[in-house]
Amino acid sequence: MPMNETPVSPATLAEPASPAVTSLADAQGIDFHMHSTASDGALSPAALMSLCHERGINRLSLTDHDTLDGVAEAQEAADALGMTLLPGLELSSQWQGMNIHVVGLLPQGARGSLVAGLEAQAKARVTRGEEIARRMEKLGLSDALAKARAQAGSDRPLGRPDFARAMVADGLVKDMGTAFKKYLGSGKRGDVKAGWPYLSEVVEWINDAGGVAVLAHPLRYGLTRRKRGLLLDAFTAAGGEACELVSGFQNADVTRDLARQLDERGLYGSLGSDFHFPGGPVAPGSMSPVPRTSLRPVWQHPRLAALFAEAA
Ligand code: AMP
Ligand code: MN
Ligand code: MN
Ligand code: MN
Repeated sequence: MPMNETPVSPATLAEPASPAVTSLADAQGIDFHMHSTASDGALSPAALMSLCHERGINRLSLTDHDTLDGVAEAQEAADALGMTLLPGLELSSQWQGMNIHVVGLLPQGARGSLVAGLEAQAKARVTRGEEIARRMEKLGLSDALAKARAQAGSDRPLGRPDFARAMVADGLVKDMGTAFKKYLGSGKRGDVKAGWPYLSEVVEWINDAGGVAVLAHPLRYGLTRRKRGLLLDAFTAAGGEACELVSGFQNADVTRDLARQLDERGLYGSLGSDFHFPGGPVAPGSMSPVPRTSLRPVWQHPRLAALFAEAA
């Protein structure tokens, strides 16, 4: 090459002007799992969007438990702040006697069988709240329903955290962790799950709405690797196409192992903080590092790609 020609480095040639995030490991400013006051989160949807903006998150999903009620407010705030918000939710379901959560990423909102599904979830939560209240009263929490309602601070559907807070407020347990460990956690008296639809049903609702079903926090069900594989098989057989590879903070070796399990089944990978309230260890966008894997990021799913291409 003559000395007067400027060499063009291979790196410059390889990179487009505005590179789209093509690998999970390169994900920055992305969080596809968060809660607001529409379910058991502490911040209003608008306040949550402001916090996300402050923290540099610009591609996100609000995923409240069993409801899209917070999405309209979040969408307005996200639009004003120039962030790309994907409507979403986190559906409660049951599989083999366990309470399994499925995030629905819903670019078209609620449509098809999901509409009736959401009505059924709201009713199931009311009936379940009454049952949890009866059980907590037997365990010493008088007027349990009213106290849980007071903790919720609005007329949104109740969840186990509302009962946990009521138990702490009444001095029955020292903190929320203890309330779950003794009374409300998996397999305890307050873990009422009979009313939830089967895992396969909620996956069908999400697909019917033109969304992508994402198995939420697969490492938080206390499963062995083998049983987790069976859950992933059931989820995949039902039509589920994605799974959270990273949810908040988790062990790096376990993450790598989980990536193999997802890869074997051709699942897309998602990630999220599962943020609920400020002041704890988890903030929007905070999660363990994402290892370099061959998993396709969920935002490249054909049903979502158009939304995120614009934001790239
Ligand atoms: P529910 O939606 O009523 O089944 O309640 C489940 C919610 O309880 C989860 O989404 C968490 O926000 C919360 N939760 C579960 N386990 C614990 C725990 N050990 N300590 C505090 N909160 C918890
Ligand atoms: Mn929650
Ligand atoms: Mn969950
Ligand atoms: Mn969640």
